[in-house]
Amino acid sequence: MQTQNFIGGEFRPALSGATDDVVDPATGEVVTAVASSGAADVDAAVASARVAFEPWSETTPRERFERITALAEAVEADLDHLKALESTNVGKPSSIIDFEFDLTVDNLRFFAAAARFLEGRAAGEYLDGHTSFLRRDPLGVIASIAPWNYPLNMATWKIGPALATGNTVVLKPSELTPLTAIRLAELAADIFPPGVFNVVLGQGESAGAALVAHPDVAMISITGDVSTGKLVARNAADTLKRVHLELGGKAPVVVFDDADPVAVVECLTEMSFYNSGQDCTAPCRVVAGPRVFDEVVAGLTESVAALRWGDPTDPGTAVGPVISAEQQAKVAGMVERAVAAGAEVTTGGAVGDRAGFFYEPSVLVNPRQDSEIVQREVFGPVVTVQRFSDEAQALAWANDVDYGLAASVWTTDVGRAMRMSRKLQFGTVWVNDHIPIVSEMPHGGYKQSGYGKDMSIYALEHYTEIKHVMIKG
Ligand code: NAD
Repeated sequence: MQTQNFIGGEFRPALSGATDDVVDPATGEVVTAVASSGAADVDAAVASARVAFEPWSETTPRERFERITALAEAVEADLDHLKALESTNVGKPSSIIDFEFDLTVDNLRFFAAAARFLEGRAAGEYLDGHTSFLRRDPLGVIASIAPWNYPLNMATWKIGPALATGNTVVLKPSELTPLTAIRLAELAADIFPPGVFNVVLGQGESAGAALVAHPDVAMISITGDVSTGKLVARNAADTLKRVHLELGGKAPVVVFDDADPVAVVECLTEMSFYNSGQDCTAPCRVVAGPRVFDEVVAGLTESVAALRWGDPTDPGTAVGPVISAEQQAKVAGMVERAVAAGAEVTTGGAVGDRAGFFYEPSVLVNPRQDSEIVQREVFGPVVTVQRFSDEAQALAWANDVDYGLAASVWTTDVGRAMRMSRKLQFGTVWVNDHIPIVSEMPHGGYKQSGYGKDMSIYALEHYTEIKHVMIKG
């Protein structure tokens, strides 16, 4: 398999010859090394995307549909290989990996088709003697910068709408998880004209920053940490690029006393620990009513203690490692400080005794609302449970974080479900469920979880510029 950048339809090493190691988080061992790019490599990729832009932007929606659909089919035919790469690179258990790959293929198909139906207001005479109509033009070269938690899936959320609307793309995967992006380039090589889709490998501070600063990049779409998003928005301001930010989350799970505690526990046991909790919408912050609280804590503690964690290749494993030693230390540090601040660990709370970057699935109860574990994203297999006294407090606590990506409400009272979903300041609100996503519906944040939507027709709109054409006569 390739380990190099994909620029202008060719695989090339970084001009400096530098490489980054790729590590298997389940063992801590280096599995390969890939190109580590600098500004000169980014220049070459952007130049090739710029040359490819004009002819690609003039293709019909049907031609783009056919090529992106061909990529979806190539990905589908290669799923076993792609899943194996992602499992090795991210430590994803084989038992959970199917869902995100199914979504990846569906996203590509959705964007390919949806870009054939872009909408605007009716053409007409809004001023006497003048006819107005609207165009939706592509922007140019899009830099798509992806995180490590769902490397291929996050990449397709970005490249699908960008390519379908007639833009060209330079994709930079996370330096920690480049393998499926390289494989995607191999699959795309025979499908798109050279330069339409490029992959530049490397670190955020070098390759990523060079893309953000580049004057010929029209838009940055990045999924990552809030601090990274703030830095990117600041740096992109120098060239006034369009910025699309999908950042962190701290999803509340508001469980009212009339909810079904068994359903809550079942959902949390699966979804809070899915992908080792490294999910920006993970149901990680439970606030439960005074009467249901004890039952939720007891049920969750018992079922989380029984979760099998460890070797991702074992089909019985539910929870794998976190991505890196740094992430493992971050999770451990946050739990330690939460306990020091008064929270109680009912299960887990340790790194365990395996090689690799594991952290035991953990439940912490009664943390203070203003404590770090409630206020900051852990991005690990850790759930907190707090007891609220009434609906007003539940809502206040749920909204009282800087993030605003996703939330859920559990109740059988329809009026309360409507009230809560209106007042929760989050980009997605589930009622009596948490996590399901579909290509047709938008995914994106309020507040410091960022701006701009991934998936859905709304994502397509971000990748186009609206133009008013007014004709006299
Ligand atoms: P990260 O911010 O460390 O890195 C994300 C990407 O940005 C990487 O490719 C990295 O190389 C690049 N980058 C870093 N510094 C950069 C810079 N100065 N300029 C340009 N690019 C730079 O995030 P991560 O640790 O890879 O991913 C985890 C984070 O992503 C979590 O906070 C998680 O919540 C968030 N996330 C959000 C969503 C969402 O849809 N909102 C989805 C998945 C992950």
